[in-house]
Parts: sequence; structure tokens; C-alpha cells
Amino acid sequence: MTDLDTFRTETRAWLEANCPPEMRQPMRGEKDACWGGRRVEFQSPAQKAWLDIMAARGWTVPDWPSDYGGGGLSAAEAKVLKEEMAALGCRPPLTSFGISMLGPALLKFGTEDQKKHYLGQIARGEIRWCQGYSEPGAGSDLAGLQTKAEDAGDHYVVNGQKVWTSYADEADWIFCLVRTSTQSKHGGISFLLFDMESPGVSTKPILLISGNSPFCETFFDDVKVPKDQIVGEVNKGWDVAKYLLGHEREMISGMGLGGERKALGTALAEKGGSIDDPLLRAEIAAFDVDAFAFAAMSERFIDQLKAGEAHPAFPSAMKYAGTELNKRRHELIMATGGSDALDWDSARSGGGKAPRDWLRTKANSIEGGTSEIQLGIVAKHILRLPGA
Ligand SMILES: Cc1cc2nc3c(=O)[nH]c(=O)nc-3n(C[C@H](O)[C@H](O)[C@H](O)COP(=O)(O)OP(=O)(O)OC[C@H]3O[C@@H](n4cnc5c(N)ncnc54)[C@H](O)[C@@H]3O)c2cc1C
Repeated sequence: MTDLDTFRTETRAWLEANCPPEMRQPMRGEKDACWGGRRVEFQSPAQKAWLDIMAARGWTVPDWPSDYGGGGLSAAEAKVLKEEMAALGCRPPLTSFGISMLGPALLKFGTEDQKKHYLGQIARGEIRWCQGYSEPGAGSDLAGLQTKAEDAGDHYVVNGQKVWTSYADEADWIFCLVRTSTQSKHGGISFLLFDMESPGVSTKPILLISGNSPFCETFFDDVKVPKDQIVGEVNKGWDVAKYLLGHEREMISGMGLGGERKALGTALAEKGGSIDDPLLRAEIAAFDVDAFAFAAMSERFIDQLKAGEAHPAFPSAMKYAGTELNKRRHELIMATGGSDALDWDSARSGGGKAPRDWLRTKANSIEGGTSEIQLGIVAKHILRLPGA
């Protein structure tokens, strides 16, 4: 037996003994995710217990160093943990932009003090973060951002507006791109962290097509930010921003794997009934073949990423493939649901889960950078096409 086999056996036994049965039920939707934060409202005692016990072991962030609240696992061990959690149907104990986006950027660009201060809080789910990148005039052209941070001695004064800030009204802190110089477009951006309760920060929710309101316009009016809350060097925030975007795109590409991690044909068959239309059946089969190929590609990509061997533009290819796949998945779920799938409100339809999920996927190819932008990056940096 190799060390990894032993680790697998012990991990399985530990998960079986410690993961509450309620936390082994499939997630019914976004509300079953635990986002943590100062204002967290646990859905059940089991959800809190699961977060606490996983955080105590460092397994909310298994491959982060243990000095920073992580589990200190190797990439191979972290993969085994993921596989064993999937095999037992364990829910993720914590969903967080701190884990999937800010943490990796802090590990690479943060000072020792910043790592010690912020990473443990992220691992324990104590602080909920939001991302202040996009502005009304700067989405795809992100480096065109205008929110400015003026040097006021020992602090910056931030003024401006962000838009589409996911969960800004529920977040405790923001990681935010600001302009600290107008001398150069990309070379005048800095990366700041600050508390959303700072005087001068306000948010206004925006309604999404699915009927939810998960994101906001975010306004900064003379917000004071201590200088030690800058990550990386002044005017070099673009490097931090791009690195974080790679991790964001990796995270979003995971949508391609589907929540249940099972073939769509199987999932639909388990719901009962049969699909008479041979063309629709063929489309589902073709989808499942593509989804299987995507899962294999994703596994290889994550391995390369963890080993530091992934092409820097590859998260764009994965983001594009994963989100387009997820959109296709939900088109097929709608097509197989017939008129029932249009039911928006009833208890029978789970409050319109199918159409709401389907509409939500329309945003997949926009959030984290649009599909067109990802294709442009692939054309330029991977395919090296002329003029791209
Ligand atoms: C659900 C959701 C959550 C989001 N959460 C956040 C968040 O938490 N924080 C945050 O900062 N932002 C967030 N965003 C914003 C997101 O990053 C932007 O919407 C995205 O980058 C596109 O920018 P834009 O909306 O300004 O569109 P635009 O940049 O105005 O683009 C409009 C259209 O033009 C196309 N286009 C633009 N430039 C080019 C080009 N060079 N080549 C080809 N086509 C081009 C685009 O592909 C798109 O189809 C979120 C968006 C969504 C939908």
C-alpha cells in the first residue's frame, strides 16, 4: 500500500465518521451553499458543525500551507480528498471568493503580515469577500477603470463606482482595483482590500434575469483605506488582477462539470419518464460525450495548474468550454422538461428551479470575462493567430 492509499483509507474513514448525514445530501440550489462571513446565517446546526470541523482540520483549503489555516496537503492528497468527498456526496463546507480568488493572489503577492492576517480568516469562513473589478465603463476593457485612490499620507482616499459586484450587499470586505496613476493604462492600477463597513461605501442591488438579486452597484465616496491594505506594489495591481482572474476562470470553468457529477442522460432517466424524440436523445448523448471529455480535460488542467505548469492563458480556454457546456446542459434540461419546465413559482417545480437555473446560465459566459474575450485570449496567447 502506498502512502497515498493509506491517506485515502484514513480520509474516507474520517469523512464517514465526521460529515453529518445532512451534509451528504445533494445541494438543492445556491441557498444550500455556506458562504460564511460576519453575518452568516447557518441553514442548520449540521452546516455549522461541518464548517467548523473541516476548518479546524484546514480542509476548507486543503492545499494551502498549515501556517495560513490550510491543511498542508500535497496536490495529490488534496485530489484524493476531493475524490473521497465526491464519492460520499459531502457538500463543500465553505463556498467563498476568498478561497477561489483572493487567497491564491495573496499567497503569491501578499506580504507575510497580510498572509497571516487574511488567509486564516478566509479558511475559517470568518470574512466574506466581494470582487470590485467591473465599472460602468470598464468590463471587457477592465484596465480602463476609473475608480481612483488618491494618496493622503498614511492612507488612500477612494472615489468611484463599481458594477455587477456579486454579493456586495452581503460581503464584509472587498478586493478592489483602483487607479493610482493616470500615466499608464495598465501600469496605473493598484489592488486594494477594504472593509465594506468603511464610511463612504454603499451598495444598490440589481435584479438578475433569473429573479434573484445577487449583485450590486457599489459606490465609494471618500473611503479611507490604510496603505498597508494594498496587495503587491503601487501601480502594479494589474499583475495581481490578472493572476486572480486566472483562478476565477478556473473556478467558473467548474460549472462545466455539473453539480451532480453524473451523466445528464442518467440524471434525466432517474427523474422518471422517457424521452421519445430520437433527435433529443441523440443531443443528450452527444452532450454527455462532450461533458466526459471536458471532465478529463479539466482534471489534467487542474493537475497542471497545481504543478505550476499550466499555460497562463489556459484558464480562458477552460472557462469558455465549461460555461458553454453548462449552458447546453440547461438548454437540454429545459427541452426535456416540456411545458412543466416553464413553471416559475409552484412548490411542485421547486419554485421554478429548472427555468431559473437555465436563465442563470445565460450569465455564465459573461461573468469572469465574456466568451468573446476568452476566445480572443486563446487566439492571441495560445494559437498566436495574426492580428488577434
Ligand atoms: C452574474 C455576473 C456576476 C458578475 N460578478 C462580478 C463581480 O463580482 N465583480 C466584478 O467586478 N464584475 C462582475 N461581473 C461583471 C463581468 O465581469 C462583466 O459583465 C464582463 O467582464 C463583461 O463586461 P461588460 O458587462 O461591461 O460588457 P462589455 O465589456 O460592454 O461587453 C459587451 C459585449 O461586447 C463584447 N466585447 C467587448 N469587447 C470585445 C472585444 N475586444 N472583442 C470581442 N467582443 C468584445 C463582449 O463580449 C460582450 O458581448 C459579473 C457579471 C455577471 C453577469
